[in-house]
Amino acid sequence: MSLANGRPYLAIPGPSVMPDAVLRAMHVASPNIYEGDLPVMVAGLIGDLRRVARTEGHVAIYIANGHGAWEAALSNTVAPGESILVPSTGRFGMGWADTATGMGIDATIIDFGRKDPIDLDRVAEALKADTGHKYRAVLAQHVDTSSSVRNDIAGLRRVLDDLGHPALLMVDCIASLACDVFEMDAWGADVMVGASQKGLMVPPGLGFVFFNDRAAAQRAQMPRVTRYWDWNPRSQPEMLYQYFSGTAPTHHLMGLRASLDMIHAEGIENVWARHAHLSRAIWAACDVWGQGGPLSLNVPDPANRSHAVTALRVGAPNGTKLREWTASKAGVVLGIGLGMSEEHDPDGTGFFRFGHMGHINAHMILGLLGVVEAGLIALGVPHGKGGVSAAAEVISQA
Ligand SMILES: *Cc1c(COP(=O)(O)O)cnc(C)c1O
Repeated sequence: MSLANGRPYLAIPGPSVMPDAVLRAMHVASPNIYEGDLPVMVAGLIGDLRRVARTEGHVAIYIANGHGAWEAALSNTVAPGESILVPSTGRFGMGWADTATGMGIDATIIDFGRKDPIDLDRVAEALKADTGHKYRAVLAQHVDTSSSVRNDIAGLRRVLDDLGHPALLMVDCIASLACDVFEMDAWGADVMVGASQKGLMVPPGLGFVFFNDRAAAQRAQMPRVTRYWDWNPRSQPEMLYQYFSGTAPTHHLMGLRASLDMIHAEGIENVWARHAHLSRAIWAACDVWGQGGPLSLNVPDPANRSHAVTALRVGAPNGTKLREWTASKAGVVLGIGLGMSEEHDPDGTGFFRFGHMGHINAHMILGLLGVVEAGLIALGVPHGKGGVSAAAEVISQA
């Protein structure tokens, strides 16, 4: 017997839950791409994307996932043979560095492990040692989705400014955009990348690169930028096809229109506050469960935790068993432990993650936590009693 039949819940860090309004917006016939509503709608998206990113800067949209946005950002700013600095706090830091390496860019990684945030002093040391200013950019994850660490982006800006280092600050907000507080202009990010399938609640397939005038000036010095990745026509189009270097991703754009309408109707500050409050409910449950067994939050200090994704350890192979149980018995798919292999657990079966980004509310999070508690009981994984009640306590303070 299974209790999974009913509306399924994909509680992984992307793709996220899609709102009915987004699905409905996409369920229409192919639109006219030459004239009419679509070109007008696309022009209107730009300002609404900027409002989510909190920037007055430029934006280029790519038909790509996050990996495409990574490559797009680098293609416009760092030439083959040039160097970048990558303070890494998990699998995604390593991933962006690897994209750069594949483009012939020399990436120096500072590895902060899989649960600690970027140590600004160590970044300052590395930049201070770079007296010839060979680093053209510093690449950082706002939230690393594998470890669920959230990094201090404004702090990185201060480090660069204090040293007078000209490297661009390039930030990966793919997991955090429209979930965690992020202020592109106020925090001094020069380039920011996002993607559609996380906080923006749209299917995977759109990548966003936001950039300011400093980044545009670095783009102007590039010896060559390949046509498809060039952000210039995309950010200053005269015709619809120039936004996308070809046919517009029509239905993704309709979904995005609906999602941006939802975000701005709620208000981005309220969206951030909802994610923060629901995160506290999740952590409260996990703290209680952890008091009587092997479960623990991967990031010890709440100040360094994402409000969009939570990585947990629960002892091998309990992570995998729990995921199987919640999917088959309760209709909830949990995220795998990503990049969490250890010597005694090469497949990372002792880890799992909650995605809590985008279209999520109190009843979904309480349902998620209730199902996990049921799974811990069913599998005989020792845990402290009262996790769901602790979460309800937090929710009650709404
Ligand atoms: C999801 C994610 C990516 C990769 O996105 P894809 O769409 O899978 O290519 C990169 N960085 C972060 C922080 C992410 O959360």
